[in-house]
Amino acid sequence: MTTKPAVAAARATVYGYPRQGQNRELKKAIEGYWKGRATADALRSTAAHLRAANWRQLAEAGIDEVPSGDFSYYDHVLDTTVMVGAIPARHRDAVAADPLDGYFAMARGTQDVAPLEMTKWFDTNYHYLVPELGPDTVFSADSSKQVAELKEAVALGLAGRPVLVGPVTYLLLAKPAPGVAAGFEPLTLLDRLLPVYADVLADLRAAGAEWVQLDEPALVQDRSPAELNVAARAYRDLGALTDRPKLLVASYFDRLGEALPVLAKAPVDGLALDFTEAAAANLDALAAVGGLPGKRLVAGVVDGRNIWVNDLEKSLSTLGTLLGLADRLDVSASCSLLHVPLDAAVERDIDPQILRWLAFARQKTAEIVTLAKGLTHGTGAITAELTANRADLASRAHSPITRDPAVRARTAAVTEVHAGRSQPYAARATAQRAHLGLPPLPTTTIGSFPQTDELRTARAALRAGRLDAAGYEERVRAEIREVISFQENAGLDVLVHGEAERNDMVQYFAEQLTGFLATQHGWVQSYGTRYVRPPVLAGDISRPEPMTVRWTAYAQSLTPRPVKGMLTGPVTMLAWSFVRDDQPLGETARQVALALRDEVDDLEEAGTSVIQVDEPALRETLPLRAADHAAYLAWATKAFRLTTSGVRPDTQIHTHMCYAEFGDIVQAIDDLDADVISLEAARSHMQVARELAAHGYPREAGPGVYDIHSPRVPSAEEAAELLRTGLKAIPAERLWVNPDCGLKTRGWPETRASLENLVAAARTVRGEL
Ligand code: GLN
Ligand code: ZN
Repeated sequence: MTTKPAVAAARATVYGYPRQGQNRELKKAIEGYWKGRATADALRSTAAHLRAANWRQLAEAGIDEVPSGDFSYYDHVLDTTVMVGAIPARHRDAVAADPLDGYFAMARGTQDVAPLEMTKWFDTNYHYLVPELGPDTVFSADSSKQVAELKEAVALGLAGRPVLVGPVTYLLLAKPAPGVAAGFEPLTLLDRLLPVYADVLADLRAAGAEWVQLDEPALVQDRSPAELNVAARAYRDLGALTDRPKLLVASYFDRLGEALPVLAKAPVDGLALDFTEAAAANLDALAAVGGLPGKRLVAGVVDGRNIWVNDLEKSLSTLGTLLGLADRLDVSASCSLLHVPLDAAVERDIDPQILRWLAFARQKTAEIVTLAKGLTHGTGAITAELTANRADLASRAHSPITRDPAVRARTAAVTEVHAGRSQPYAARATAQRAHLGLPPLPTTTIGSFPQTDELRTARAALRAGRLDAAGYEERVRAEIREVISFQENAGLDVLVHGEAERNDMVQYFAEQLTGFLATQHGWVQSYGTRYVRPPVLAGDISRPEPMTVRWTAYAQSLTPRPVKGMLTGPVTMLAWSFVRDDQPLGETARQVALALRDEVDDLEEAGTSVIQVDEPALRETLPLRAADHAAYLAWATKAFRLTTSGVRPDTQIHTHMCYAEFGDIVQAIDDLDADVISLEAARSHMQVARELAAHGYPREAGPGVYDIHSPRVPSAEEAAELLRTGLKAIPAERLWVNPDCGLKTRGWPETRASLENLVAAARTVRGEL
């Protein structure tokens, strides 16, 4: 394949880079500052070193225009809140007294003041702090962070491109401040916000910025005509400014859809678009609007949120299609590299052959540079890279890891019959009632009990070889004995073993399933100083042996009451891992489902009558655009049914999800065909119970009556009141009594007291039936 050279040299760039440093130095510095072990100056200097190291790394790799201002002590949306002066009233004194401490107070709260709410950044596992705005919000520009960081890059002799959250996305991500009527629309504040952006842009120009990037990922979601008009107005006005740098409006995570013509027409100087498979529709849409004559196009062809090596030839062919559609064409990742780990080269435990399939931030940077080189000078300039890339892709495609004939044969043989229980719900409910003999308003928990320091220490000792397997097993069994005896004494009806053996609800299973890889250093920021190491779902999935049966069976051997088996569902396994990109997600989910199905069947075989398959991620992986929901929910619900439908009618299948708003997936929840669902509901006063009822949900449900997110112990009367509210929506024969979620983050004293109150509440309300 040959690509003819582009007219201008294509620049290689990225929108953002992992913040943490090679050894998570930033986490350590920030937490050290919080604990009073390090001064603010020490923290600032660590941060400055990390920024400089990142820029040098990018520049040495061949990135011509480095991002600046993407660094954050906690979160870039919170930084934007500071930049536009939208500090919530309750934090103003703290911020005035000490901007750094005030910043952390907004992020984490203090003894007296609540933090900003935290929520997911689009469909990633990164969390941002939600801006709080109201009709009285007064914005004021504070460009100091952006200007200072740009100057640092410039001082290194680099062309820095400041990256800002765009004004439209900022407003669309905001919520009404406390005390402001829920109907308030932050977007109505645009006219007040734009002058602030104008000031910041002028300051950045003065500080040496040729280009500034404005990130508008909210425009890849379904937007109303009114919202699109606001976006048009915003960029018309910003474009019309005279004292400004060139503006690059960036979108990522999906296609721009109706927003594409709006931005293409706007008087800005460039657009950055996602051209990975998920957003492939951008290609035709861009051609349909006649391209971007006179503008710069930055093409996100390297997947910025997954960890697989790029198909360079495919990317070059995409870039080839884009040539001529804009004045100049540059190459980038589809989104900030914040969402991938820093460097695959430091992994020691992964087979070197497989390691070549992986590309973390550093490797992706090299891919971007290679592509820009190929685009500028023709493929002849990157022959060696293309040859190596072809070999890596072939090795991945033909590896026994990615193609296990036994797994393939089994998934191919799956039919509709496998994805449905043998009897309809009504018949199952009767069989289960007879089999389990539970009282009305049965009580249970969601699975985990407090993960004590002792348990974590024992796990660390096992890893370090200071504790042998038998010693560790006994430690976990002792915990199970304690958890079972507590639940019996407290009077709970359906018990759990407590999940003491689990480090994490996904990792625990990933470690036991063939096809998953674990990384040693693959940390990705989840929020603030919390980093996670998602497993890599690399190959065909199989289950060499049972994963949970011995713990559940041991727990069941200790009590005549039913002990609920506890598994993580296929959708959640995918959502919290890096998933393979070489087959449809539904296919991967099907493989995981079949492996879990064996576990469900083995649990039943071992005498487990109640089995819970958690799917807390079902809603969070919902595609950003409504048009894509049906296809996603179809494979997701089918994977759940495939996991759970191998059991007898009198075995009761539970599922659990932890969110209070799920109006858009009620039908999907129904389609899971689980016998019982538990949901978070305490803080929303049983709102989910009303939503289920409104939908006509026919099965049993346990809207939570105990908010496990705080150490507060709910009184029995309070829990009873919530139950009475629940009963108005769900009849007594179908209502369960349980907490909102698992108890692993709670301490034992409040757990004991809260569950005793929960059982007391159930008894009181049973007496009123
Ligand atoms: N069974 C899990 C637990 O109790 C569920 C966790 C979750 O929903 N996030 O911890
Ligand atoms: Zn939960």
